[in-house]
Amino acid sequence: MKYGRTYNFSAGPAMMPEPVLEEIAAEMMNYRGSGMCVMEMSHRSKVFQQIRDEAEADLRKLMNIPDNYKVLFVQGGGTLEFAMVPINLMKNGVACYVETGAWSKKAIAEAKKYGEVKIVASSKDENFSYIPDCSDLDIPDNADYVYICENETINGTTFHTLPNTKGKVLVSDQSSMFLSRPCDVSKYGLIWAGVQKNVGPAGMAVVIIREDLIREDLDPKTPVYLSYKTHADADSLYNTPNCWAIYCCGKVFKYLLDNGGLEAMAKRNEEKAAILYDFLDESKLFTGAVRKEDRSLMNVPFVTPSKEQDADVVAASKAAGFDNLKGHKSVGGLRASIYNAMPKEGVEALVEFLKKYEAEHA
Ligand SMILES: *Cc1c(COP(=O)(O)O)cnc(C)c1O
Repeated sequence: MKYGRTYNFSAGPAMMPEPVLEEIAAEMMNYRGSGMCVMEMSHRSKVFQQIRDEAEADLRKLMNIPDNYKVLFVQGGGTLEFAMVPINLMKNGVACYVETGAWSKKAIAEAKKYGEVKIVASSKDENFSYIPDCSDLDIPDNADYVYICENETINGTTFHTLPNTKGKVLVSDQSSMFLSRPCDVSKYGLIWAGVQKNVGPAGMAVVIIREDLIREDLDPKTPVYLSYKTHADADSLYNTPNCWAIYCCGKVFKYLLDNGGLEAMAKRNEEKAAILYDFLDESKLFTGAVRKEDRSLMNVPFVTPSKEQDADVVAASKAAGFDNLKGHKSVGGLRASIYNAMPKEGVEALVEFLKKYEAEHA
């Protein structure tokens, strides 16, 4: 790796593409003759407006976002979206949630403050190691939406098939899989993603929302910032946005477009994940923590037979130059997050390391 950089397996903030970081570095002191850094720029300036507009246009191209969807850049990260979704979409005050792990649990807890939450499927019985069957959910007629966390970052599961929402609006938290594979936006009412997992720096969420779901008749006490309409009407420039995150994410969108788009990303991500999963399937020491058919291509949790050995591998991995491989405390073991920007070489190097560790500790 150049610049003495490390293979960083963090679940987020996570690696960004090296060519993007190089471009940002080159533009740091004087952005394209503007005489200033993007961090110093007025969000009302022409030069920033172009950065914002290009970022949106490139994301639309990348995901093929239909014209009847708005793209919003909202601060507050993922956690604020747990509240913004029910605040804006609970019209009847009833919503269905699929409980698949740590992040859907947080979304459920937040939604309960605003209305009735019906958990229509759960994988709690097996410590969230699989995706429950969502082909025939019991969805009440007055449900405002069905919510999923499409990739559970901590538990390492992914929906490879979307739930049958029986005509209700599908809302998806795509934070840890955003732009990792092609996505048919028209199947969703709302997609949101905190960008620090698979796109750019922390401090922003991208929200893609079907226009007819944007409401004016919210509780009058709703903070102006928490209404999607505020952001939609102002092209995400109602107040000072996270200009820096918009700029960096815009660069990543362009980079993905220049490198084959989401089809190419999906192919690369499948190849990368297969290197690690194939090893785990053969290993006598390490075991994948997730049911095979529900495995995430982005977050790979795995364990050894004991907590002590887990800790020993984590320490050895650090000494060998890998970073952030410790698993989340709710799952234990190790977790390798291998987002878009993790090079294939990084996954190969990790597998080599794990193989060697296993041979030495057999
Ligand atoms: C990280 C994460 C969040 C929370 O994001 P914050 O920006 O830290 O609030 C929500 N959902 C998923 C799936 C995540 O991975």
